[in-house]
Amino acid sequence: MENQAPENTTDCPHCGKPAELCVCEGIAAIDNKVFVLILQHPQEQDRSLATARLTTLHFKNARLAIGLSWPSLTKIFGRPVDPQRWAVLYLGSTKGADLAPDRDMVLVDRKGAALGDQKRVLREIEGIILLDGTWSQAKALWWRNAWMLKCRRVVLSPRQPSRYGRVRREPRRDALSTIEAAAMLVARLEDRPEVETTLTASFERMLARYRDVKRSHPALVRR
Ligand SMILES: [Zn+2]
Repeated sequence: MENQAPENTTDCPHCGKPAELCVCEGIAAIDNKVFVLILQHPQEQDRSLATARLTTLHFKNARLAIGLSWPSLTKIFGRPVDPQRWAVLYLGSTKGADLAPDRDMVLVDRKGAALGDQKRVLREIEGIILLDGTWSQAKALWWRNAWMLKCRRVVLSPRQPSRYGRVRREPRRDALSTIEAAAMLVARLEDRPEVETTLTASFERMLARYRDVKRSHPALVRR
């Protein structure tokens, strides 16, 4: 079976990946309170390493929207949503580690300075928004959706770099994959460290698959 033709593969309907790269089986969706909204740039095409769909499979309350711009959060959900109770993860030019060296998640104001009343605001967060794509695609999403300025803004400064490692080089040490970022945010906001453990394990399974497939069926992961 070693040289099985790659065209024989069928994509998984859940994660959208070729069957060889799918790690969906056995995922039990977490009953999260903080909603996870992923906005994906339409040109995010790195299908084999993408994690947005996998992330939404892990949560009961999650949605993936693909596009460049939306008029508001309310339009996305079709019901009134208070942007003040939503936090968008966007690093921009801030460095979370400099803002609060003792914390790996910090809320910042429009100028990128740490908010004073972190605890109170964090308690009120109903949902998080993640921008999925390359660094410049995320930047484009940020600038094309002015309503995000009405949301809270959160930055992460993870203690360890993304598990993507050398597979996909991130431009910054504090840039994480979508699944890692969602895991960290939900785990911190709901005070459920096990959420991070579960999603990280899933991501590591995906990366292990990727490395195996890259060796055995390089055409499947060629970009
Ligand atoms: Zn799958």
